[in-house]
Amino acid sequence: MSLLEVKNIYTFYGQIQALKGISLEVNEGEIVTLIGSNGAGKSTTLRTISGMNKPRRGEVLYQGKPIHKMPANQIVALGISHVPEGRRIFPRLTVEENLEIGAYLLNDSKLVQERKERAFGLFPRLAERRTQKGGTLSGGEQQMLAIGRALMQDPKLLLMDEPSMGLAPVLVDFIFEIIQKLNQEGKTILLVEQNARLALEIAHRGYVLQTGKLTMQGPAKELAAKPEVQEAYLGGH
Ligand code: ATP
Repeated sequence: MSLLEVKNIYTFYGQIQALKGISLEVNEGEIVTLIGSNGAGKSTTLRTISGMNKPRRGEVLYQGKPIHKMPANQIVALGISHVPEGRRIFPRLTVEENLEIGAYLLNDSKLVQERKERAFGLFPRLAERRTQKGGTLSGGEQQMLAIGRALMQDPKLLLMDEPSMGLAPVLVDFIFEIIQKLNQEGKTILLVEQNARLALEIAHRGYVLQTGKLTMQGPAKELAAKPEVQEAYLGGH
């Protein structure tokens, strides 16, 4: 059984049909990447899984159970955390307070403390800035904070939306290393990325999304070798 199974979902924004029958699966232990151009529906797919948008048709199964009608906080409690596009950290709250918000479903303060220290272990730069306001952090540090916040629930499945967006190359590499490290430590990851080259390098499998529909799927190495993927998403090389 797949950890996550998305079955033929249709998601709308009012009259706008963003997803036109998407089916995909993510197995435990995998990094799966979703690539596609702007507006293809990548973020909407993640938002439909995490319960921020509701599909008009279709199903989302997690560990075999339907979750597409559940409120987002219940989905988080099951072990799915979303690192949203644009980070969405709280600029006026400190680094520590931002992490604590990620643990809003926990009421064991010792566990919250432990998880915070774990996030600081993963991101020493955040530890140095623990009392600083989120809004004063660099883009890379804000991305670390968004990932750290999502990890506070100790999720089994991490949904990551464009974690490398707008970052300097050295930070892009760092974030991709973190994604691999989290995966090696047992996290299953569904990764949306504009940087298709790097995403296909670290992913086990991938899906290509075009205007609300999946057009290709397969092992990441096979996708990266396809001329049509290279031309459209890897800069033609
Ligand atoms: P991007 O990389 O630009 O975020 P994406 O592949 O993640 O692209 P989505 O953000 O999922 O794509 O958008 C899919 C479609 O839904 C697009 O046509 C977009 O314009 C539309 N859309 C997304 N969010 C909204 C919204 N809040 N209201 C109306 N339409 C939206």
